[in-house]
Amino acid sequence: MNNKRLSLASLCVKEFKDHRSTKPHQLPIYATSSFEFESMEEGIDIFTGAKSGHSYSRYGNPTVDTVSGKLADLEAFGTGLSAYGYLTSSGMSAISTIILSLLKTGDTILTQGDLYGGTTEMLLKVIANSGIKTIFTDLTAFDGVEQILQNDRTIKLLYFETPANPTMKCIDILQMSRLARKYGIITCVDNTFCTPVIQQPLALGVDFVIHSTTKYLNGHGNSIAGVIIGHDEKYKKQIWTTLKLLGTTCNAWDAWLINNGLKTLPIRMEKHASNAMAVALFLQKHPKVKKVNYNGLPSHPYHNIASKQMKSYGGMLSFEIDGNLSSVLNILNKLKFCSIAPTLGDVDTLVLHPATSSHINVDKSQRDANGITDGLVRLSVGIEDVNDIIFDLEQALT
Ligand SMILES: *Cc1c(COP(=O)(O)O)cnc(C)c1O
Repeated sequence: MNNKRLSLASLCVKEFKDHRSTKPHQLPIYATSSFEFESMEEGIDIFTGAKSGHSYSRYGNPTVDTVSGKLADLEAFGTGLSAYGYLTSSGMSAISTIILSLLKTGDTILTQGDLYGGTTEMLLKVIANSGIKTIFTDLTAFDGVEQILQNDRTIKLLYFETPANPTMKCIDILQMSRLARKYGIITCVDNTFCTPVIQQPLALGVDFVIHSTTKYLNGHGNSIAGVIIGHDEKYKKQIWTTLKLLGTTCNAWDAWLINNGLKTLPIRMEKHASNAMAVALFLQKHPKVKKVNYNGLPSHPYHNIASKQMKSYGGMLSFEIDGNLSSVLNILNKLKFCSIAPTLGDVDTLVLHPATSSHINVDKSQRDANGITDGLVRLSVGIEDVNDIIFDLEQALT
């Protein structure tokens, strides 16, 4: 194109040749909805799959694909598997996309009763409407799980989370993946609480891992996104097709923020875990605290399973304050350093009161039966100086 011949208005409109000469040291954000073809033939080849290349950012984008590839490599690290990953617009859309990719009307999902609240709600209020049923059971009761699998051949997916929110109950991943394999059932683990630094379900025979990258993987609380990671090539095309047609794709900006967060993931996770251990030990000795749920404490009922499948005990814990609802809320109102916020995995310490937030719509009797009492407080322990976290909790509890 000869720019000398064009009018000022056209020069304003047209993209100029970009001036990239050397390789950028950091991943660029490709803020473009589409990609130009050199010729009609190239376009045809890319759309038919004869040639690989980007065409439209809902189908794939260099920034997004770079980050999803990195996450897949992290989940498959050391397993010898070659995994693929797809970033999604949220953790929830990672879950809905994988379910709608793998299951159809008449199929059943087997899962636990204490899933992330949004996941339970989606299974009951959205997924159920397309004729995909869910059975909720205690996945730590092996014989009961096997009996359900034996009796119901419509079960296609075993879906679980470990540790579970907010009581840190652990499910034996290897035991569940072996059982699922015996019955020809696909497994998917929500690994949000651990990240691949702490727990690698693929190494324990699981087919798919999903994450809300919103939490630890991003780590800085400034993006909402998710990821689906698998290794069986048989499902790859169907997942990509579902993703691009539902439009649950991640955007380049959020992908870039995850990429930034990933650089410090191992050192963040190490500090989250050591701080959480120190906070758990402090809380355990406090006279106003009835109970501490932290997998690192040998007294925790799931300490042994956690030790078997987690490289550290992570940054999440919950504890029960001795007192009624109003006295518990008073204590939480006194916190000055820790933030009251309904997320987890950020660099700063976050407090959540499940009974009045994440579990407010669950019956009190059912809440109590699951250990989610009025006194229960969830902490996402940050990477600050642990003395400041403990000082804040101490002054609030006094
Ligand atoms: C937050 C969360 C989700 C949902 O992720 P979003 O990014 O909020 O959509 C799913 N599972 C777990 C364990 C979570 O903590």
